[in-house]
Amino acid sequence: MTDATPTPPEDRGPEEPVTGDEPDVVETSYEGTHAIVVGGGVGGLVAARRLVLGGMTVTLIEASDHLGGTVTSHEVGGLTLDAGAESFAIRGNTVATLATSLGLGADIVEPNPEGAWLHQVAGPAVPLPKLSLLGIPGSPLAADVIAVLGFGAAFRAFLEALLPGTFAAKSVTLGELVRRRMGNAVVEKLVAPIVRGVHSGEPDSLDLDRVAPGVRAGMRRTGSLARAVLEVRTARAGSAVAGIRGGIYRIVDALAAELERFGVEVRLNTTVTAVDEGRVMIGDEELTGHVVVATPGILGAPIAAGHLAVLATLVVDQPLLDAAPRGTGVLVAAGAPGIRARALTHATAKWPWLAERAAGTHVLRLSYAERLDGLEEIARADAEALLGVPLPAGSVLGFDIVEWRRPERQEHTPNGISLVGETASGTGLAAVVAQAETRASDLLRDFAP
Ligand SMILES: Cc1cc2nc3c(=O)[nH]c(=O)nc-3n(C[C@H](O)[C@H](O)[C@H](O)COP(=O)(O)OP(=O)(O)OC[C@H]3O[C@@H](n4cnc5c(N)ncnc54)[C@H](O)[C@@H]3O)c2cc1C
Repeated sequence: MTDATPTPPEDRGPEEPVTGDEPDVVETSYEGTHAIVVGGGVGGLVAARRLVLGGMTVTLIEASDHLGGTVTSHEVGGLTLDAGAESFAIRGNTVATLATSLGLGADIVEPNPEGAWLHQVAGPAVPLPKLSLLGIPGSPLAADVIAVLGFGAAFRAFLEALLPGTFAAKSVTLGELVRRRMGNAVVEKLVAPIVRGVHSGEPDSLDLDRVAPGVRAGMRRTGSLARAVLEVRTARAGSAVAGIRGGIYRIVDALAAELERFGVEVRLNTTVTAVDEGRVMIGDEELTGHVVVATPGILGAPIAAGHLAVLATLVVDQPLLDAAPRGTGVLVAAGAPGIRARALTHATAKWPWLAERAAGTHVLRLSYAERLDGLEEIARADAEALLGVPLPAGSVLGFDIVEWRRPERQEHTPNGISLVGETASGTGLAAVVAQAETRASDLLRDFAP
């Protein structure tokens, strides 16, 4: 998941049961097998943990002065808040399993099931359709779908059920599939605002099977995209995201503590300048060992070429927000007049633990795709318009901006180097953790004596 991400409607419901495992240090002898992990974001931390638990000697090198990469915290208005990721997809149970094995199982929490709203280009703000998946309606003629699309476009979407299940089933992107089956309006008015806010991408550039697993197969089986949406939602039967009481950054603190406990050498403020099979260069210094690259920018396109995600966080004192007038937040349709933000998360409405901690004040996270002069005032005005309540300058108790440059996917990894993290797995903690675990386990198998 990505920027300020209101929980989409498909993310509602109770949390899945979570199982976890205690870390077992495997007694395999990898004597002399040294792994060097470059980058201390979640991808690098998870890989380093798996390798050291598997019995390897591990050095982790991090350019900045802290671990966690994009999962970190900041102080705003006297509150310690997540400065990046604030939830994780429970898909595959990967992050929950990790959190549980780190001792955080009891602190896994579900978001307020109320769901988010849509700020339309024209017309009033409306709750996102309840029976939908990434904006694809499961019941195209439902009143909440007609409220967004109008009857004509909703009826066009409804007619897709008459098409054979194989029609457009080879579509590569989410946008292509939905456009061909349900029409342009569904893509532009429902899917696009959601995936821009949730995946920081456009429908026509998002891989269908990655962002909507199960939909293609469900459509072939049931003969309809709408029915596939309903089927996937039923199978999921619960919230698609979860959080950690206190903040997602606690996962990083717990991972760092484990690495220390298991003897991983962690070098902060150390920038790797080049990597090759079996060696890592830090300026003139050479380290040898198996190289695990867990950062964008070293192997592929420079990170400066990635897209920018700007997060503006406001802590405000406005009792009218106690009623959560826009549920857990607002997704903004592209072209909505006067609004620069792409999405707003009403974090204190989304996370009950945060509301408790904020003691009557409110935390609002707004995401932007570019750096803007005067962002504090822009964010305040956007929040006021999106939430429909006055937020005079005097109500703002704290403000902060965090900028993240996000990497492009890396298609090719040189021989003899392992690549983990977002460049290999795609965005989102569920994907990053799963891929890092798998890649590190592969490595342990490859090097098993
Ligand atoms: C604003 C924002 C909100 C997000 N919200 C969510 C969310 O709610 N849910 C979710 O699941 N996901 C979310 N994500 C995505 C998620 O945070 C990332 O996919 C994930 O944290 C990426 O982890 P990583 O380890 O691959 O990379 P990074 O976190 O980018 O870590 C890479 C690390 O490598 C270090 N490094 C870079 N160059 C070098 C070098 N030369 N030498 C040594 N070290 C180096 C960096 O300093 C950094 O610490 C969000 C991302 C952003 C930006």
